[in-house]
Amino acid sequence: MSENILICPKCSCELKKEGGSLICKSRHTYDCAASGYVNLNTKLTLSGDSPEMVNARSRFLDLGYYEGFARAIIRTLDDFKPQKVIDAGCGEGYYSNMIAHELAYTALYGFDLSKSAVNKASKRIKASGTDASFFVCGIFDLPIKDNSADAVVSLFAPLAYEEFHRVLKPGGRLVIGAAGKEHLYGLKRALYSEVYENNPEKVVCPEGFREISRENVKYDVIITGKEAIGDLFSMTPYYWKTSEAAASRLLTLDRLDTPLDFDIIVFERL
Ligand SMILES: [Zn+2]
Repeated sequence: MSENILICPKCSCELKKEGGSLICKSRHTYDCAASGYVNLNTKLTLSGDSPEMVNARSRFLDLGYYEGFARAIIRTLDDFKPQKVIDAGCGEGYYSNMIAHELAYTALYGFDLSKSAVNKASKRIKASGTDASFFVCGIFDLPIKDNSADAVVSLFAPLAYEEFHRVLKPGGRLVIGAAGKEHLYGLKRALYSEVYENNPEKVVCPEGFREISRENVKYDVIITGKEAIGDLFSMTPYYWKTSEAAASRLLTLDRLDTPLDFDIIVFERL
């Protein structure tokens, strides 16, 4: 584990590895879990995604439908060869794993509030033999030194711009993956009588950054099997705002044709 950009969430001193723990100068101690992650969450009220949601997302992503998007993110990162990459809201580590595996020159730090997600991410990395480290921690309060990261990756996760600005080096880049206009249009059509396109334009360049690029990645997929369709549905925001009747209709389908449409937006930290 490369821990030299990590700081103690209690006192902001540098965290160093000592045996199976991360320890700061004031002896605040954070133990590595069996799977390798470290819990750096000092707020007890927030817990993130449940194990069921994590498993559903993991099963779905492992089917490879989002691989084209993951490859585009990796190409975007490889363009500027970042040494230290933060995956802010890494979930169960599907993308982190691919980034760490494909870009062997990076040290990857994944953060997520969900312990089950981070546990899964840690096991995934162990299984693939690549070197990356994972932490249970919210992304609005990253235990990372100021001006220390070369890249922050935010894929379908909340955007903590001020915090990203703080941890990025000047010239470091924020790589955002968000839903493009037609993302999951087929899924929405199966759920609702009136369907609207997404608005990726709402991601505007925040203060302290400048926009470098905006790339669209779009392809059609046929998602087969009730389990895969149900798993996909449960990882979308629609899961929380669809009537039971519409949801049950969707879950009777054996096949779903839909575009996947992603916007990859890159901002440089000034
Ligand atoms: Zn401390």
